[in-house]
Amino acid sequence: MAIQLKWPLLGIIIPCCLIAGCGYGIYFFVLVPHHESPWQLIGFQLALAMTWISYYMAIFTPAGSPPKDFEPAAGAVKRWCFKCNAYKPERTHHCKTCKTCVLKMDHHCPWTYNCVGYKNMPHFIRFLVWVDLTSGYGFYRLVLQCINLYKNRGLPAYLIPLSEILASVILTPITFFVVFSVGLLSIRVFLNMLNGITQIESWEEERLASAKRRNLIPRNTHFPYDIDLWYNINHTWGPMWSWFLPFGRPEGDGINFQKNESGFDDEGNPITWPPDQREVLKPDDAESGSDSNRTSGEMRGFGRGPVTFAQTYISSMQQRSLLSNRSRSNSTSSEESTGYPEWRDQITSDADFYKRELFETFEGEKISDFGVDLDSEMPRPAASSSRRYRPDAGEIQQELHLHQQDQHRAQQSKEEDDLPLAALMAKRKKEKAYVS
Ligand SMILES: [Zn+2]
Ligand SMILES: [Zn+2]
Repeated sequence: MAIQLKWPLLGIIIPCCLIAGCGYGIYFFVLVPHHESPWQLIGFQLALAMTWISYYMAIFTPAGSPPKDFEPAAGAVKRWCFKCNAYKPERTHHCKTCKTCVLKMDHHCPWTYNCVGYKNMPHFIRFLVWVDLTSGYGFYRLVLQCINLYKNRGLPAYLIPLSEILASVILTPITFFVVFSVGLLSIRVFLNMLNGITQIESWEEERLASAKRRNLIPRNTHFPYDIDLWYNINHTWGPMWSWFLPFGRPEGDGINFQKNESGFDDEGNPITWPPDQREVLKPDDAESGSDSNRTSGEMRGFGRGPVTFAQTYISSMQQRSLLSNRSRSNSTSSEESTGYPEWRDQITSDADFYKRELFETFEGEKISDFGVDLDSEMPRPAASSSRRYRPDAGEIQQELHLHQQDQHRAQQSKEEDDLPLAALMAKRKKEKAYVS
């Protein structure tokens, strides 16, 4: 589950305190008193320095935004960002915290107060690696020290420095927490890197797998950006020689991505991913009718451009429907009698659960937990309240007439309040007789 901090700066202060407290605590109270060679101390200091540098780079390196004049390639699915008022490349998402579109967005990280995306992913990975190495080694040395202290528990107290005992008691559980939590995150990030997938896309895959199991989308749609192990690593962490260099960067441009065979249909047309992604056009383009079959936020029409979820899904369902119609040619199909395609019955309201904005994984993760701003993907609601209602002349006349009647009745009841009861009863009797 994503972590939301009430004070975002805490996301930086907590890791800084942990690096400084654990790192220098282990250095001064565990390594300095018990080191076997000075290289142990130098190596640990270097690893700590690299941790600080990579953390600084992960915080201050922008994740990468699309160029202002970005135009989707001819034939590509267009995705308009309603917040940036610009088209965005594939794999780009708008971050609701950074308030910008982020190239190959992985997630918005509260612990770096920055998005993790195409440009700063190598810094983020390096930071994780250096934290894993320093905290892992530190934890190992702390455990050794704890074992030693336990073995020497019979010695007189003045022979064991109090600082070493305190450091072991305080730092061992904290360092274990760092090793465990950062280790889990590192495993997730590394598995994603090896598969060429981002955290957001991995969430999408989980959603699509659920939808596939329920036959809500074609089973033959697969993730298209997984090329091969080496390519995936080079385009996420950078080439091998730069893995541990503070300025190493990934290959590619973060805008155009190579796709595997799952990214194309039989005729070689690109298939959009995720398969139920809608094409969202610039509002002007949609209204100008440059393409009369398309509107803003609508899926692209059939027989033109890239194949979308609608096309692959509908064609597979139509084929299935055709086969079942043939097999029972004697009976009248419901499609013929109602004019309503049979396969549509399968699209029920619980299929809504698999929509991007509603789906939750088993762990309860929603796409917004990764920082994605879903409002940027749909037009803002029209400001209906700004137009005030103006009644016409007839309505004004009627309103005036009703108002006069109300006033007349109020006057009448005021006059009746002053009448004695006998006189009032006589008046009512007279009115009744008059009405009948
Ligand atoms: Zn945007
Ligand atoms: Zn962000």
